[in-house]
Amino acid sequence: MTELHSDLSLDHNKRRLLAGAAAAATMTIAPGVLLVAPKPAEAAVTGPVTDKVRWGLLIDTTKCDAGCDACVGACKAEHGWGDESKSNDQQDAQWIRKVDVKNPKTGYAFSLPMMCQHCENPPCADVCPTGASFKRADGIVLVDKHICIGCRYCMMACPYKARSFVHEDLVMQKTHTPRGKGTVESCNMCSHRVDHGRLPACVEACAAKAGGAMLFGDLNDPNSEIARRVASIATTQIRADLGLNPGVLYHGF
Ligand code: SF4
Ligand code: SF4
Repeated sequence: MTELHSDLSLDHNKRRLLAGAAAAATMTIAPGVLLVAPKPAEAAVTGPVTDKVRWGLLIDTTKCDAGCDACVGACKAEHGWGDESKSNDQQDAQWIRKVDVKNPKTGYAFSLPMMCQHCENPPCADVCPTGASFKRADGIVLVDKHICIGCRYCMMACPYKARSFVHEDLVMQKTHTPRGKGTVESCNMCSHRVDHGRLPACVEACAAKAGGAMLFGDLNDPNSEIARRVASIATTQIRADLGLNPGVLYHGF
């Protein structure tokens, strides 16, 4: 849906500059010898991580179909988990999953994607003995695989069942989002994309292939689309009673 696009957009002048730079990177250094510099894989980083921003998601469950898992498929493809045609189908990864809910009293049913809620006060980080679980200044909660010792305290502390442990050898590693056997993982809000001015893969897929139920943006910017929507419609934090202030908000129930 058009109104559910992201607040992010890459500056057009920057795109042109990058395109020009890539073209100029190929030149003749001697007769018959071409110097071809590697093209930049992505646009430049948009800026330093700062607490002026709080990245968040608003999910409109009235636009989320029970049978749709476009977001899950996009996440699997982006991060290289859960492909059953490969050998890591035993991972039972929990980066994102669809949950169908029905109110037994009213019969009202809806479906929602569940992932790390990117809590402002993340208990996963509180219990982590090594500091591997941490929250960035812009609100994205991550696991540093280099110092995760696989104790799984964070999995027990997370009330959203948002984390999973990598038991098996990995065969589908993506260079932009490496995973690690013996470590814990969860949704990283596609920080590698966000830091380059792009949308999380799930948001992009939902807009392109499904109902456009996911809006990504800066909750701290009162002029952002997500902040304006949050101010104008009823939203729900799952398990708001826990006081974790998730960065993922839902609408429609
Ligand atoms: Fe940590 Fe779970 Fe909150 Fe994500 S949802 S920040 S893994 S406690
Ligand atoms: Fe920290 Fe890793 Fe233990 Fe989780 S499993 S609490 S990230 S060391």
